Amino acid sequence: MRPAATLLLLATTLGLVAAAAEPAATRLGNVDYVNLDEAAAYLGLRVEHLGTQAVLLKDGPQPVARLAEHSREIDVKGLRLFLGSVVLEHRGVYYVSETDYRVRLVPRLRPERVRPMREPPKVIVIDPGHGGVDHGTENRTLGVMEKTCTLDVALKLKRLLEASGYKVVLTRESDVDVPLAARALIANRAGADLFVSIHFNSLYPNTKTTGAEVFSFSPRAQRSTDSWSLGGKDDAEASLAPVNAFDSWNTILAGAVHRRILDALRDGDRGEKIAHFGALRELRCPGILVESAIITSDKEGALLKTPEFRDKIAAAVFQGIEDYCAMMGGRDPKVQAAPAAAAAAPSAPLARSAPTRPSGP
Ligand SMILES: [Zn+2]
Repeated sequence: MRPAATLLLLATTLGLVAAAAEPAATRLGNVDYVNLDEAAAYLGLRVEHLGTQAVLLKDGPQPVARLAEHSREIDVKGLRLFLGSVVLEHRGVYYVSETDYRVRLVPRLRPERVRPMREPPKVIVIDPGHGGVDHGTENRTLGVMEKTCTLDVALKLKRLLEASGYKVVLTRESDVDVPLAARALIANRAGADLFVSIHFNSLYPNTKTTGAEVFSFSPRAQRSTDSWSLGGKDDAEASLAPVNAFDSWNTILAGAVHRRILDALRDGDRGEKIAHFGALRELRCPGILVESAIITSDKEGALLKTPEFRDKIAAAVFQGIEDYCAMMGGRDPKVQAAPAAAAAAPSAPLARSAPTRPSGP
């Protein structure tokens, strides 16, 4: 053995090799960014360049994320995810915003590093979107209303969760209107450990597009994903909302539910997004809003009329919640479903991996 190798082996044995430092933030424009090479080293990953405009993050030989220059859309283990700020490149080095690094990349690529640890959830609040005079979206041709579908899926989900031993509270159990902020307050009063709001999307007059979206509340100073569309306005907020205390956990929960919905429905991946949803803002626990299908599409509108499809959605959200709970040190995750067919991502999805259970505190 060469002397240098002997020294390295000795230093490693004695624990003298310094771990990579947490990446430092650099101000670029009006946003703090971190150097992706430094971030990857800190997370035990490495950066591999794909031509001049994209990079892969690799965990050993396994690609776990793909990021492209000037884009907010990334691929994390085969799932589309929208960052709050664009990825930048300068002289061959990539940069991601410090917020995206901390509350999107770390929770998804190294959930065991997210602190503080959370207890496995016991009380789960399910929020059937809309109700009463608020019908939500509607497919008039097919005669199917969002408020009816959300309540039915929520009731099915409640039964599955209760059978698994969770205490479940619904924000409404009948066709009544509940103000958005009141939904989060119901969860807070119930001592919720987890909150999932059930919705269905509308893209009217487009009747062809199908697919699922999962939303978290926007981190402080980040615009909602849809505000970047043509005609959108900067809706970033300067102050923290109560639910922002759980940004990293919201990301872990969103990923777990997103994966199960895609595996179950296989109807297109419209991505994980952020928005300032009133039902999430005041939460004192992690929470997400799920739009698992598009009610105004001919295909999914018709499917939503069938109890089988609503069963499928409830089962997928249930499994996603179970995966999240397993990652919090609760039950063992169920056997992963087979990978979904290539989703509607702009590039081939990366290989999938089972949820990672965080190691001790
Ligand atoms: Zn809705």
